[in-house]
This record gives sequence, structure tokens and C-alpha cells, in this order.
Amino acid sequence: MNANIRARRGTELAARSWGTEAALRMLQNNLDPEVAERPEDLVVYGGTAKAARDWDCFHAISRELTLLGDDETLLVQSGKPVGVLRTHEWAPRVLIANANLVPDWADWPEFRRLERLGLTMYGNMTAGSWIYIGTQGILQGTYETFAAVARKRFGGTLKGTLTVTAGLGGMGGAQPLAVTMNEGVALCVEVDPQRARRRVETRYLDEIADDLDDAVDRVLRAKAEGRPLSVGLIGNAAEVLPELLRRDVPVDVVTDQTSAHDPLAYLPKGVDLDDWADYAAKSPDEFTDRSRESMADHVEAMVGFQDRGAEVFDYGNSIRGEAKLGGCERAFDFPGFVPAYIRPLFCEGKGPFRWAALSGDPADIAKTDRAILELFPENEQLARWIRMVGERVEFQGLPARICWLGYGERHRAGLRFNEMVASGELSAPIVIGRDHLDCGSVASPHRETEAMADGSDAIADWPLLNALVNTASGATWVSLHHGGGVGIGRSIHAGQVTVADGTELAARKLERVLTNDPGMGVLRHVDAGYPEAARVAAEQGVHIPMAQH
Ligand code: NAD
Repeated sequence: MNANIRARRGTELAARSWGTEAALRMLQNNLDPEVAERPEDLVVYGGTAKAARDWDCFHAISRELTLLGDDETLLVQSGKPVGVLRTHEWAPRVLIANANLVPDWADWPEFRRLERLGLTMYGNMTAGSWIYIGTQGILQGTYETFAAVARKRFGGTLKGTLTVTAGLGGMGGAQPLAVTMNEGVALCVEVDPQRARRRVETRYLDEIADDLDDAVDRVLRAKAEGRPLSVGLIGNAAEVLPELLRRDVPVDVVTDQTSAHDPLAYLPKGVDLDDWADYAAKSPDEFTDRSRESMADHVEAMVGFQDRGAEVFDYGNSIRGEAKLGGCERAFDFPGFVPAYIRPLFCEGKGPFRWAALSGDPADIAKTDRAILELFPENEQLARWIRMVGERVEFQGLPARICWLGYGERHRAGLRFNEMVASGELSAPIVIGRDHLDCGSVASPHRETEAMADGSDAIADWPLLNALVNTASGATWVSLHHGGGVGIGRSIHAGQVTVADGTELAARKLERVLTNDPGMGVLRHVDAGYPEAARVAAEQGVHIPMAQH
């Protein structure tokens, strides 16, 4: 049965080298039922984000990866293997392009028409580029974001505050744990009870309330006692948030992680959960209108909370854009999370660095955790994260870890892991990649590049350069996508994954990729005029021909 894919473990190879074995295992891992949201449909996360176009394509990619030589490169066009070309040992073993459309054609109806014809696939960010590691992947970013909210508004902790949000899917499921890790109380609205239960099973969510009254009661008690708690409520956010506002519930922070970027993946008010898929498939235009209207009500309530003094932000799902289309005039009254909290980190080339143990052995990740603590002893926030995540987070699929590291740091971690593979301290190679939600590889005017200092929000040359740079630097696979995070027409982004197999060649590739990839973040922000980025470039010797010093 196709839905029971699980990554191979151990040191025996099905492929001809660790580079191609790694790609194979990470593709399989993306579809592991522990990792993927709907593995039977090849959907990994983010509503409809897939790892391969269909099952025939999945099997063909898997077969090619087992046959591929060290001087060959497999081309994957939106989830379908379309060619194997002769290259060389420094070239990526796989090059991936997902969901790209010529700008004038780049909207959801056209994308869906092409998808129905079997010509394309939505890969979101790490689904179609085979480096999704389950909800932990987003936990660090979400933890950092809520920590930044706490620093900005609440004296460094969320203790005694109530955060209201919605969506407990693959990414959104990280929110309750990120809030409680920051000592706060979270009320998370989710229409699908199965999704909410899954978060309880994986210990991301503490409990599920019986109804709205019960939920409000539980969260207000915890807030009053200064006790961290996360409560799930089964309901539609477009109904629950206006009701919370009407009742004047004292909410301190409001955000959202429903799949609003895709109107067909947001359930409108008045539509039954069981009718969702059928209705969206049969009448996509009518469904889109209704979901946008509901998002308008949802966002109207978010603006209402902001008017009452709450900290409100868009968490990168395009809900403001969709609500505006649905008639909410004030949708952009609150900011996106990147300009509000994350951009200073991007200026240092920081972003979600992640790695997975191809052995499948959790002990390998424990050893890499220790290596990170030894490498960066001065970084207390990083140390707190590594300790906490080690205690609280269950692995999904292959054991993996994420932490935010910047320019000058990532390559040191990569080289260290490679040495640990070479010495036998780790039982098998490690794959090192990142999310596309990163400093120098995304153009996304409603998210990563919102409100850039020089107005360059929509300039998409940067992710293209990023993919080319990683290809030229020795990454094992490189991907270039359209539409991730915020939907078709709204973003262009690139990813890389590089394998630490313990060889000298891998060390040379890792040193270049893990320097140049975050280096793109530094130089992109220098170019946009950020003094913090110029300082990092000057201190670390990033050569920028026309930088003003
Ligand atoms: P997902 O599809 O796995 O989960 C979305 C959840 O929202 C589902 O469980 C769904 O049942 C629920 N939902 C839909 N309509 C609802 C409604 N009206 N009321 C309540 N719940 C509703 O998606 P995901 O992977 O969790 O991603 C969520 C969104 O966050 C996406 O738009 C994604 O692009 C975005 N995202 C943001 C970041 C970031 O860092 N800020 C990162 C990744 C993804």
C-alpha cells in the first residue's frame, strides 16, 4: 500500500552513493505517516503541498535515485522525474523546480487547471524539496517569534498572557508548544478534531476543551495563575474569534495559521467538515468566494483585538491578502511577523538550519545536539532551545533537529558533523538543509520580504541567485519553487540540502554551501540598506562590491 512509506534506516545503501541515498530517504521520510499530513495523497503539509506529483512519479523518482551515478543529475519538474543528465561530482545529484509559472499566468485558477491536467504540483517549501522534518521544523521559528513578542511587549516572557490563534496543522501545530515554552497560555481554534487530537498525541497541545465556554474558562484560569497551558477548541475561527471579541475576552496576542494562503484549504463558515473536499473540488470559485468572506470576518475580529490593545500579527499565511479580497478594508492594519520580529535575524544571515540522521538512530541527534552546545557556548538562547527541545519534542520520522544559526556559524556546524561521521562517532551520514523561510532565498512581499527598507519586496532575482549559488557551491540537491507559504503568485523561493558523509569532498562542499547560502542573506539585506547587515558583512569579510562602509 502506497501510504505506508517509511525512510530506510541504517548503513546499508539502496542507492549507489550517500548523496542519492540521502535524497531517496528524505523523499521517503516526507511521506512517512508520522511526518506527512495525508501521505495517501502524497500531501506532506500546508494544505496541498506534495512530495511527488503522483504515485507513478514517486516510484520513478525512487528508482532513478537508486541508479544515479556520481556524475549524473536527476531533473524533477514539479514532482515528476523528467531527465537524467551527465554532470560532474560537484554538481547536485538532483535539481528540482516546483510550481513555477510565467508571472502573467501565476494565479490559483490557472495553476489548478494545469494541476488537473497533471502538468504541475504544489510543493510549498520543504514538501517538494524533500527536507520537511515534521512539526519540529517550524517549532524553533515559532518559539523564536513568540520569544520576540514577549521581549517586545511583555518584559521577556508570555507568563500571564493569553494568545489566541487558529490552525493546528503541520505547521500551525507548533504554536501551542511554542507559547507554553515561553510560559504563556494559548487558545487554538481548529475545525478538524482529528488534527487537534494528533497534536495532543505528539504533546504539542496540552488539552482539548469541550466547548467555547469550557475553553474560555480553562485559559482564563491558567492566565490568572500564570500557569503555562495550551487548549484546543474545535470550531471555525471565522465564528470563534468574533465571538471572543464580542465577549470581550482579555486576549493579549492574536495570530493565525490556518491554510489561508489557499482559499480551498480554509473552511468557510457554514460548511460542514465532511463536505469540505467535495464542495471545494466541485465548485472551487464559489468555495473561494465563501472562504474569503469568512477570512474577512476572521481578520475583522483580529483588527478588533488590535484596537483593544492586543499584539496582532500575520503569521505568514497570507490571511490579510485573502481577507482583503473578501472585503475586509482594514486587513493590512496589522503587520506580518517578519518586519515585526524576524528581520534583524535575517540581517545576520540567521535562519532555520536543520539536519536529519540518516541512520534513524536518535542517539546520533543527541550527539549532534551536544556538538552544537560545544560549538556555540556563548549563545544562551540556543542552549535553552537545544535542552528544551531534547526533553519535550518527539521525533517524527527520521530523527532530526533544527536551530537558527547565522553566517559564520552554519558551516562550522556542518564541518563538525562531517568530522563526527568520518570518525564513526555518528553511525551514518547526516543531511543538512533548511526551510525556505530564510534570510536570502525568498522573495515574498507578504512575508519574508514584506516592507523591505528599500522597497525591494517583490524583486525575485535573489532566490534565483540563491539556487544558482548553491548549485555552484556543491549542494547535493537544489530546488527552486513558486508560491510557498503564501500561495501561487505571491512568492519565489529556493532551497538546498547537502550531505555530510564524512568524506573530504563533502567537507569542501559543506564549507562553501553553508557559507554562501547564509551569505546571500547578508548581502541581500546589505543591498536593501540595513545597517545591521552591513556590520555583519564588514565584521565577517563578506565581499560586497558596492557596499557603503
Ligand atoms: P495545514 O493545512 O497542515 O493546516 C491548516 C489547518 O487549519 C488545518 O488543520 C485545518 O483544518 C485548519 N483550518 C482550516 N480552516 C479553518 C477555519 N476556518 N477555522 C479553524 N481551522 C481551520 O497547514 P500548515 O502546514 O499548518 O500551515 C498553515 C499556514 O501557515 C499555511 O498557510 C502555511 O503556508 C503557513 N506557514 C507559515 C509559516 C511561518 O513560519 N509563519 C511557516 C510555514 C507555513
